[in-house]
Amino acid sequence: MRVAEGVYSIGQRQGGRTHAYLFEQERELTLVDTLFDSDGERVLDCIRRIGRSPGDLKQIALTHGHRSHLGGLAALKRLSGALVYAHEWEADIIAGERPAQPVSMRPQGPLSTYPMRVGLALGRPKHAPCPVDRSLREGDQVGPLRVVHIPGHTPGHLAFHWEQRSVLAVGDAVATWPRVDAGWPGFNLNEGQYRASLKRLAQIEAEVIAVGHGEPLRERASERVHALAESS
Ligand SMILES: [Zn+2]
Ligand SMILES: [Zn+2]
Repeated sequence: MRVAEGVYSIGQRQGGRTHAYLFEQERELTLVDTLFDSDGERVLDCIRRIGRSPGDLKQIALTHGHRSHLGGLAALKRLSGALVYAHEWEADIIAGERPAQPVSMRPQGPLSTYPMRVGLALGRPKHAPCPVDRSLREGDQVGPLRVVHIPGHTPGHLAFHWEQRSVLAVGDAVATWPRVDAGWPGFNLNEGQYRASLKRLAQIEAEVIAVGHGEPLRERASERVHALAESS
């Protein structure tokens, strides 16, 4: 689904209505996150549908090292030869050398998010490991996207801003499934950091907020993120 000029949203039910985003600048493609499935097929299908080939995918950037967003990484890397980018703190998780940190099992938030919490606690199902080629920091550029470091959900969580197209990909900092919320309650490793990061995101004006779980926010998007940041 096209959400802005040169920006496509790709989603699937599994992994909590997880979403990945494809960004096209000139003939080059940059992918943010890789969905839950391990074959990368939904992403490849989107690439074909916009008249591009896997070899046009030059960069795969990851918001963070959680299973729902890493599924297709190894397959897509193999098929495209794209460089893989992530924050340093997430890199060894993505490479399969360290398990992701579990979150609290205290009952909190919508029941439909519990399977993902249990998955984190058990480290199951595992993703196919893939080394990270380049680490990213605040202010770096990957394809057309500027990197914003927003720790809290995880320490190395990144957002990606395409200013020209007014699109901001925020990963798990905001969720629209099962409801529009400041992420999933109970899933943040550091609440204080998370709140500060959400306030930072609310300062960035964007017409489309591309979230990690649920459909992207396209109406009054910035205003709604602002409200979430104010109420949290
Ligand atoms: Zn996450
Ligand atoms: Zn997630």
